[in-house]
Amino acid sequence: MVIFLFYTYLAATKSPRSMKLIDGKAVSEEIKNTLKQDVIDYKNRTGRVPHLAAILVGDNPASKAYVSNKVKSCQQVGFNSTLIKLEEDISEEQLLTHIRELNENPDIDGFIVQLPLPKHIDDVKVTLAIDYKKDVDGFHPVNFGRMAQGLPCYLPATPFGITLLLERYNIETAGKHVVVVGRSNIVGTPMSILMSRKSKTGDATVTLTHSRTKNLAQIVSQADIVVAAIGIPGFITEDMVKEGAVVIDVGINRVEDESTEKGSRLVGDVDFVKVRGRSSFITPVPGGVGPMTVMGLLLNTFKSANKEIYN
Ligand code: NDP
Repeated sequence: MVIFLFYTYLAATKSPRSMKLIDGKAVSEEIKNTLKQDVIDYKNRTGRVPHLAAILVGDNPASKAYVSNKVKSCQQVGFNSTLIKLEEDISEEQLLTHIRELNENPDIDGFIVQLPLPKHIDDVKVTLAIDYKKDVDGFHPVNFGRMAQGLPCYLPATPFGITLLLERYNIETAGKHVVVVGRSNIVGTPMSILMSRKSKTGDATVTLTHSRTKNLAQIVSQADIVVAAIGIPGFITEDMVKEGAVVIDVGINRVEDESTEKGSRLVGDVDFVKVRGRSSFITPVPGGVGPMTVMGLLLNTFKSANKEIYN
């Protein structure tokens, strides 16, 4: 009986020999090392250092953690960084004034306004106020439109990071059926566009799904590649995933866990422990897509410093 239970446990938790963990942390370290050298060369060539700024409004702990991660990554690759912390009750007009100043500051190559913003601020207005030439998060409609048409642009940081992972792990996307779950402007929708575009990590047949999709589980179960960007812990379950599928988990959700010191831990939108047994490749949370979003941001900033996309 004990032996039977032991093997039942192993069957439920083991990762099959064919399953490969997509290690976003390791890939991001590789990119940082290359970028670090590129920054030294850039400095020798131009006498200046790439400079990324971030605006953080309010005290949202998750936003604070994301921004401090971005600042730390800037330091690691040798960028200058500026963090502008603003009070939660700042007016929309005051925030727009800060944005205009960054737009006009020639020392700043790119900047981001960390989302979400307090309810009294219209984030569409904020996105539109950012000079698209400095929009290194790739959220401005000019960059979004150029992305959709396959023109040079700043790709949205998270989808950009995911394409780098697919490339790094030689994951074939051409002709594959990709199911993207979630249609936000910053993850799901741009991801669906990128993967259906004629490109190295594109040429896929893409289904974009959302909260109004009927038969979602059945659609996901037909996917060769699943991209989950929903914001619901463990939403993608084992029964929804085809044997051998590639699973990209974008979700970052904090759940209670009494067994940890903090009383909580981060999990994705995928039931990782169960789904990994069915997948050929899978990203963990944390350590999968998250670090690659920061890389997308740094690479866009470096492109801006080099005037690679716009003059
Ligand atoms: P949004 O809340 O903006 O969008 C969520 C999407 O999920 C919406 O399109 C929504 O559909 C869809 N959705 C919600 N419930 C369901 C459901 N029951 N069935 C199907 N679809 C559903 O989220 P984001 O795209 O900004 O973020 C998604 C997740 O990714 C979050 O956990 C976020 O923290 C994380 N994230 C991680 C990043 C990283 O670097 N790893 C970067 C950005 C986000 P509808 O449109 O119909 O409402």
